[in-house]
Amino acid sequence: MMRAMVLGGQGQALRLETRALPEPGPGELRLCIEACAICRTDLHVVDGDLSLPRLPIIPGHEIVGQVEAVGPGVDTGLLGTRMGISWLARTCGQCEFCRFGRENLCDHALFTGHGRDGGFASHAIAQADFCLPLHLGMDAEHVAPLLCAGLIGWRALRMVGDEARVVGLYGFGASAHLIAQVALIQGRQVAAFTRPGDVQSQAFARRLGAFWAGGSDQPPPTPLHAAIIFAPVGGLVPLALRAVRKGGRVVCAGIHMSDIPAFPYAWLWEERQLVSVANLTRTDAATFLAFAAGVPLRVETTAYRLELANDALDDLRTGRLQGAAVLVM
Ligand SMILES: [Zn+2]
Ligand SMILES: [Zn+2]
Repeated sequence: MMRAMVLGGQGQALRLETRALPEPGPGELRLCIEACAICRTDLHVVDGDLSLPRLPIIPGHEIVGQVEAVGPGVDTGLLGTRMGISWLARTCGQCEFCRFGRENLCDHALFTGHGRDGGFASHAIAQADFCLPLHLGMDAEHVAPLLCAGLIGWRALRMVGDEARVVGLYGFGASAHLIAQVALIQGRQVAAFTRPGDVQSQAFARRLGAFWAGGSDQPPPTPLHAAIIFAPVGGLVPLALRAVRKGGRVVCAGIHMSDIPAFPYAWLWEERQLVSVANLTRTDAATFLAFAAGVPLRVETTAYRLELANDALDDLRTGRLQGAAVLVM
């Protein structure tokens, strides 16, 4: 049998269910889950900010576990190894986006914890060729947040470009705390913007190496070369555009954001760019996990038991936690 925290309808609390253990089909494998981190996207799924292709659904897409069964056509050598399941559950491999290396934009993609059951559970089924081999010297609780907070942040950081040496991070949660460290390792400088008055997160950012940390309503002490917005707050877009220098790029890293207020064209002019990040490719995952295996990343987590997923979601919703919330099975 397996246990899962199930979303029956958006806007409702998750319910603990016991189900028969699912068998992997052709090309699939089953993980016995060790840990699943909680992403802001899970909150959007539960709260109804995103429309869902199906219900009920088990949320969660930052899954670390051991392979305990494989379906037809899957290498039995994977049995007993540790693998990760991320947001990208399956792509078609045939649409124009897939064929030109942009599978993150696949017309027929399926996403974990969204269109297919995810990791707020003791077990999960996944497409074997979308699972990520994990060779990091960290326990499951600390690896899990790398699988979305880390990966999407990595893709967003790549988008700011190598020439961006001073990067502003808006919203200092799970993703920003990892990506700040990556940016510093790459020799960049980091400015951290939090909710105004959130001195705890500002101190956390400074401890991790940010040269400046303040409220999102404050201008940075020096113009930014680029900015990444992790918080789902549209009002941050004009603020970030005003904070970046000429030619600077503002990257929106979230899947959902409140409406962006109108702002004068002058704040975008001088070749500033506003772009978004959507999903990830398996290449992003492979390059990031290889990078992460070679550097000392400090992954800050708060662990919860599976049954306490609703409390964990609530703590994320209200900004009560530092770093990443992780369900540990
Ligand atoms: Zn496709
Ligand atoms: Zn995510």
